Amino acid sequence: MMLSDLRSMTLADCRELMKTLGEKDYRAEQLFSWIHEKRAASIDDMTNLSKALRGQLKENLDDTPLVTVRHLVSKLDGTEKFAFRLPDGNVIETVLMKYEHGDSVCISSQAGCRMGCAFCASTLRGLVRNLTPGEMLSQIYAVSASTGKKVSNVVIMGTGEPLDNYDNVIRFLRLITDPKGYDLSARSITLSTCGLVPAIHRLSEEGLPITLAISLHAPDDFTRRQIMPIAKRYAIDEVLEAADAYFKVTGRRVTCEYSLIAGVNDSEDHAHALGRLLRGRGYHVNLISVNPIRERNYRESAVSSVAAFKKILEKYHINVTIRKKLGADIDSACGQLRLEVAEDPAAKSEET
Ligand code: SF4
Repeated sequence: MMLSDLRSMTLADCRELMKTLGEKDYRAEQLFSWIHEKRAASIDDMTNLSKALRGQLKENLDDTPLVTVRHLVSKLDGTEKFAFRLPDGNVIETVLMKYEHGDSVCISSQAGCRMGCAFCASTLRGLVRNLTPGEMLSQIYAVSASTGKKVSNVVIMGTGEPLDNYDNVIRFLRLITDPKGYDLSARSITLSTCGLVPAIHRLSEEGLPITLAISLHAPDDFTRRQIMPIAKRYAIDEVLEAADAYFKVTGRRVTCEYSLIAGVNDSEDHAHALGRLLRGRGYHVNLISVNPIRERNYRESAVSSVAAFKKILEKYHINVTIRKKLGADIDSACGQLRLEVAEDPAAKSEET
């Protein structure tokens, strides 16, 4: 029998299960609270459920926790990178960034990625599989357990294209924002996409006021197609139309991510083209110099080019932030996360 993933359970799932087991309805609330509010490490820890019921739950649910196989702390800025081993041996990465306003966690939504962006390490082995809602939540629960604090922000910007794992990501979003669970505000969540147009339209109808970030990285289709294969399927105009619709329906200002790659997309002409494209749309642009990965020879833009690019965008009355690179010494910056397969399951590890 295939076991259901414990941490993917919604309250409705808990109710259904308790009904099947002939238990009273309030048991479902207790179970949900153990999973998502108290974040029990295992079914055995759910001490207000009888031993017999816990036994039945173990027959139906998989409570295997993520195992921390590596935990690195940046000497530059205190950013932390966690490598978690999934029950099937794949190792995914999660990044904790510490800000004055609180902790922000960047989670992975897939093991690997099939989008093929040329500057990104996450896609080098292609897509292995989608993560379950429970595996996405477990990354946050594990980081919270490590710091002893609730996280303030979640960004779905690690390995994977979240809208390529649509149903699981939506279920994850409903669970993480559930007032009876982790209870994170939807406004504290950002989902980053390379631009899957139909899925952006669908997302705008979900009633989840999260921030949408579009990984744009080029102001024209010709340049974008050179670095992002998805640009061959959807033109920039279609992506921005979908983003505009998202803004209109949700009232949430859209963010544009733009990684500056020396000699590819960082000229003054590119900046003017981007300015003309985004003028009047009300988006916020995050500029970041590309993070080099060893398999590609893309180079970072010079600090002066990044500053000049920003200045030009501001002439078009666009809000621009130059994003600080965080955790570059531990390969935890954007585009540097990668998929591994655990070589030695017996290697020093801690359960979370
Ligand atoms: S940038 Fe995002 S969508 Fe593109 S390959 Fe990397 S993980 Fe996938």
